[in-house]
Amino acid sequence: LEVNLSPMSHVDGEWAGVLIVLHDITAMRRLERMRSEFVANVSHELKTPIAAVKGFAETLLAGALNDKETAKSFLQIIFDESERLNRLIGDILELSKIESKRIPMHFSPVEMKSFVDRQLHMLKAEADKKRIELSMQVDDDIYIEADEDRLRQIVINLLSNGINYTPEGGKVKVQVEPIVVHPDVDYERVRIIISDTGMGIPKKDLPRIFERFYRVDKARSRSSGGTGLGLSIVKHLVELHKGTISVESEVGLGSRFTIELPVIH
Ligand code: ADP
Repeated sequence: LEVNLSPMSHVDGEWAGVLIVLHDITAMRRLERMRSEFVANVSHELKTPIAAVKGFAETLLAGALNDKETAKSFLQIIFDESERLNRLIGDILELSKIESKRIPMHFSPVEMKSFVDRQLHMLKAEADKKRIELSMQVDDDIYIEADEDRLRQIVINLLSNGINYTPEGGKVKVQVEPIVVHPDVDYERVRIIISDTGMGIPKKDLPRIFERFYRVDKARSRSSGGTGLGLSIVKHLVELHKGTISVESEVGLGSRFTIELPVIH
């Protein structure tokens, strides 16, 4: 709490009293702390792949280049880590743009059945590699006003996570259903559910998975190419549509992300 005292006097010079101004600076402090934590996290996340690139390049220069097989595997690591770095920087820039609301939204009507179908098509090859069955259950003629590119980002992110964190032979599903609030209006909101039969998320981690860089299992996320930023980007994008997102999960059984969006903006 910051306190400012200033004497107040009438025009004729007589004392009128004291003005006390109290500023609650906890919010400011908290924001500042969040900002410096973010910078510390970003630095750490960027340093890890850079250290790997540097280390393996050094070893190659020191002589490992002479053994063709070793050289090849080191170069593959350098390549993968550079890609990771690229994704990380892309996600950080994206998140900072979204958080500062510097992205223009372009709302237009989106028909959900064909929309979901297109997204599943995009991810079919990735799912096939793990023999994961992608399916959808979407009513006909459901329209919402959305920024289609942003909505795609939301759905693709959640579906990719579903595929990533589900073992071979599992299932990932998208459901879209209207939410009827007033019986005399068709529907005012729409629910999008993305569920998987994957590894699930421990109860203690559930409240934190939308935080930046939060990962239940760093090693697994890293090896699957994750940046730990996907879900925080998704949450912001849902909020830019004035919607909500929630998650339910059971370890070993699977996870279920539920998004609710208003139909009209
Ligand atoms: P990442 O790039 O690591 O996937 P996200 O922000 O997308 O980052 O997700 C944060 C963490 O939440 C992941 O590292 C993972 O531990 C967990 N997670 C997200 N989606 C799922 C899912 N469908 N099943 C199990 N765990 C998940």
